[in-house]
Amino acid sequence: MQRIHDRVIVAGGGPVGAVATLLLARAGIPVTMIERERGVVADYRASTFHPPTLDLLEQSGISAALVEMGLICPTMQIRDRRAGRIAEFDLSILRNDTRHPYRLQCEQFKLVDWVYRQLQSIPGLDLRFGHSVVGVEQDDSSVRLEAEHNGERVTIAGDIVIACDGGRSTVRKLIDMPFEGFTYPEYFLVAGTRFDFRAHMSDLCSVNYTADPVEWFLLLQIPDMWRVILPADEKLSPDDAVSERSLQSSLQNILPRDEPYEIVVRAIYRVHQRVAARYRRGRIFLAGDAAHLNNPLGGMGLNGGLHDVISLTDRLIAWCHGDADDTILDAYEGQRRPEAINAIHAITARNKRLLEERDPEIRARNLRDLERTASDPALRYQYLLDAAMISSLRRSGMIG
Ligand SMILES: Cc1cc2nc3c(=O)[nH]c(=O)nc-3n(C[C@H](O)[C@H](O)[C@H](O)COP(=O)(O)OP(=O)(O)OC[C@H]3O[C@@H](n4cnc5c(N)ncnc54)[C@H](O)[C@@H]3O)c2cc1C
Repeated sequence: MQRIHDRVIVAGGGPVGAVATLLLARAGIPVTMIERERGVVADYRASTFHPPTLDLLEQSGISAALVEMGLICPTMQIRDRRAGRIAEFDLSILRNDTRHPYRLQCEQFKLVDWVYRQLQSIPGLDLRFGHSVVGVEQDDSSVRLEAEHNGERVTIAGDIVIACDGGRSTVRKLIDMPFEGFTYPEYFLVAGTRFDFRAHMSDLCSVNYTADPVEWFLLLQIPDMWRVILPADEKLSPDDAVSERSLQSSLQNILPRDEPYEIVVRAIYRVHQRVAARYRRGRIFLAGDAAHLNNPLGGMGLNGGLHDVISLTDRLIAWCHGDADDTILDAYEGQRRPEAINAIHAITARNKRLLEERDPEIRARNLRDLERTASDPALRYQYLLDAAMISSLRRSGMIG
């Protein structure tokens, strides 16, 4: 592939695009980052960072910043609404496999905010906030991205585009790339409260998945609040599902109190299991949610997106510096796409089935299996290698 511009264009400055921009810029690659928003948006979707993600981002300084801003959570639990704690997994048994044997809980917008601040201090970096990508064209010698800014159209030319513009990716649609998979019928709700659940449920840890045939829930501690993720009642409209009344009722169902909960964050999401048919068309590469979407049960979407751009930026840095030919770029999809299907989709779908199982016999069997897994050293070790995404990254050759 010809290279006449010496520039990579990153479409979308969410967590995946921002990190891609930082990794490239730090390696001296000229980058233009195009972001629709004018600055950081408080986005409470991701909060979990897995051990190998922190290992891989250590050199860039990102992991130290996340640890500083986040909450270290060495254990996680699988619970049952009626029976309570079923299994507890302690990630410290992974200490020979990772330098970060814990889940780190830190909201994704704090990562974006930190990375934006780093980017501001890199001279010559072209950051275009308030720009929406509306068109893309490519030929043998370059790729041109068209963006709208204050009602005007601007064209930015480069050698490569990394599309990190999220699940509804404009770039993915513009290149006509099928986004195969399905959308779950129910919405997912997020409620954030400063109420300290652990002060009243003493056997909780910071990461708790609770199975229930009617309303499973995930209770996660982040530095300044607890987050609850649960399915919306399919009979309610999205507005009703995320209303104060409905969220209060779900929280009271978790832990009844005389007073209402103070709900400081609320959101509702459509959730999908989808993967782009290809991760590349010519000079255009897909990464993060633009390439794959999954349910949040396991905290793998953003982690997987970061793994995408760690792989891709390493390849681009070698290619741009003339240290590698095009085959290094060809291998990106083969390294990342199978893991989105075989690890991220498989594990998150399994987690959802486990939490929501309605058949009493299957449910009881699942919970017994989990108890056995947690008490058997070999099974528990393998479970954690998979849940922490270490198996997936080893399989794809990204870590040793
Ligand atoms: C409830 C919930 C909880 C989750 N929890 C976790 C978790 O704990 N751990 C985890 O790993 N993952 C989690 N995820 C998934 C995670 O939030 C996403 O995988 C992550 O946000 C993907 O990052 P991204 O940068 O690819 O996309 P996004 O975060 O969607 O960012 C895309 C960016 O592109 C910009 N953009 C969009 N269109 C354009 C355009 N046309 N032009 C210019 N810019 C554009 C947007 O403004 C945005 O800044 C969760 C998801 C949900 C719904």
